[in-house]
Amino acid sequence: MKVGLLALQGAVGPHAEALRDLGATPVEVRTPEQLADVDALVVPGGESTTMSKLLDTSGLAGPLAERLAAGLPTFGTCAGMIVLARTVLDGRADQRSYDAIDVTVRRNAFGRQVDSFEADLDVAGLDEPFHAVFIRAPFVEEVGPGVEVLAAVDGHPVLCRQGPILVSAFHPELTSDRRLHAVFLTLIP
Ligand code: GLN
Repeated sequence: MKVGLLALQGAVGPHAEALRDLGATPVEVRTPEQLADVDALVVPGGESTTMSKLLDTSGLAGPLAERLAAGLPTFGTCAGMIVLARTVLDGRADQRSYDAIDVTVRRNAFGRQVDSFEADLDVAGLDEPFHAVFIRAPFVEEVGPGVEVLAAVDGHPVLCRQGPILVSAFHPELTSDRRLHAVFLTLIP
């Protein structure tokens, strides 16, 4: 199973390692041709405003919107969650998001004092807590009726799923716990 890693910006190496550990084949995606060839996609963390710009300049914006609309299983982590959201709060005016999941997210939502923190999250469907690393993380402010909230911090959703789209406000690739990547792989038909 070929899982694309959107490699325009941000670190994709740890995601690649997680996917390989689970028997999938990670493939870096920088062009429309590469995107056309994958069965699923990871949109990694980084900076969502920069990623939005690079999606435009790489020619990937249109093809990405088409594949998402056609149901491409996609895992967005942190900035990736912002890119996949329906609505972005505290974004740049020209920042694009792809409306792949019916959530409203707020960028840098946990505030400057706690730019980065770690927390053991109770995740629906997992028996043991998941140690989550948050880095200038967004959180979800509003979810539509089709969205399942799988984990929250102080009542704010930080892990959500709608159909084949999974989004996390944190970085599951930065620990050796592969359970969320495994959940993602189950979304690929
Ligand atoms: N704050 C970043 C953004 O708005 C996201 C941070 C991250 O991906 N770790 O895009």
